[in-house]
Amino acid sequence: MKHTSTIEVQHVSKRYTDDLEVSPALDDVSVTIQHNEFFTLLGPSGCGKTTLLRSIAGFEQVTSGDIRIGGQRVNDLPPFKRRVNTVFQNYALFPHMSVAENIAFGLEMQGLDRGAIPGRVKEMLALVQMEHLAKRRPAELSGGQQQRVALARALAPKPDVLLLDEPLSALDLKLRKEMQVELKRVQQEAGITFIFVTHDQEEALTLSDRIAVMSSGKILQVGSPNEIYERPQHRFVAHFIGDINFLPGNLRQCPQNGSLFQPEGLPVEIPCNLGERANSGKMQLAFRPERSKLVEPSQPHHLRGVIEAVLYVGTATLYQCRLPNDAKVMLRESNEGGSSARAVGSQVAVHLPPHACLLMEA
Ligand code: ATP
Repeated sequence: MKHTSTIEVQHVSKRYTDDLEVSPALDDVSVTIQHNEFFTLLGPSGCGKTTLLRSIAGFEQVTSGDIRIGGQRVNDLPPFKRRVNTVFQNYALFPHMSVAENIAFGLEMQGLDRGAIPGRVKEMLALVQMEHLAKRRPAELSGGQQQRVALARALAPKPDVLLLDEPLSALDLKLRKEMQVELKRVQQEAGITFIFVTHDQEEALTLSDRIAVMSSGKILQVGSPNEIYERPQHRFVAHFIGDINFLPGNLRQCPQNGSLFQPEGLPVEIPCNLGERANSGKMQLAFRPERSKLVEPSQPHHLRGVIEAVLYVGTATLYQCRLPNDAKVMLRESNEGGSSARAVGSQVAVHLPPHACLLMEA
């Protein structure tokens, strides 16, 4: 039996125009979102995140494919008949109503028994820790407080799923961080599914149970924050989530030493831990700056280079390093123990442990 809040998006495409020259806003998207997940749609501007969210909410008609909620096909259901609710970027609070009246509004619309409304409003105010401000108007609240009211109002009718479109983007960085913690707490306390849209990779990594990374109307990869960061399956995903280096080159299989990668134009072969999926031929080696180790003395399988720039970032130092083939890579060394920075112009050897090596199609 499917949970009533399971969302299935099946081969959904969305075109806003009949002009086939214009690529679709959603291009054959399929994904299943489970009950109680904090699920994030992440991608750059214009990749289709909002369109997907609005299609689930029922504000957009999809061109093809199906959307199911709790197993029921909802393509033809209007928004108010789907058990989902939306929190918009600009909060959309009613300016002439108090905080409590704003929260009650959706309950009245829903036709909840009048006697039950004050109790539910109180419960929602407590959930977002706004009891003391129940009588204020939206204009008398800070951005973070308005965000809490919007959240309480959307949760009051007890939807199965809450859709949130960049709800924190109007807040300054410090408040944004506080509200991230709040959102996660509220989602867990309310025990419902959140589908959250953001273009901020750090926010997505911090909050989500799973992330779908989107580009040009497609979902490229779905996974836990750890899977998306540690095992990106596309160059785009690797690049969008954090810093990463790419070296084109050639992979060969060696019976004694496993998979060996030779970066183009460099006289080294780097052992890679590839397990089952051993391919050969032209590939790209990718590695995160913090997974490389600056070492001495150098071994034959170490990359060698010259430090060109030093960036101190508090907990770590970043080095831009030029390799003999003129490729540049970023390396990161922790400043734990107060180690002193390496100088510009110094020679370094770089060890890439096999588990740090990701291989992608060239
Ligand atoms: P952002 O982060 O900037 O909000 P997004 O990832 O949410 O972007 P969408 O708003 O879903 O992207 O837009 C996807 C594509 O569809 C874009 O190319 C956009 O220009 C186009 N688009 C969105 N809404 C409409 C519309 N009402 N009419 C025509 N084209 C649209």
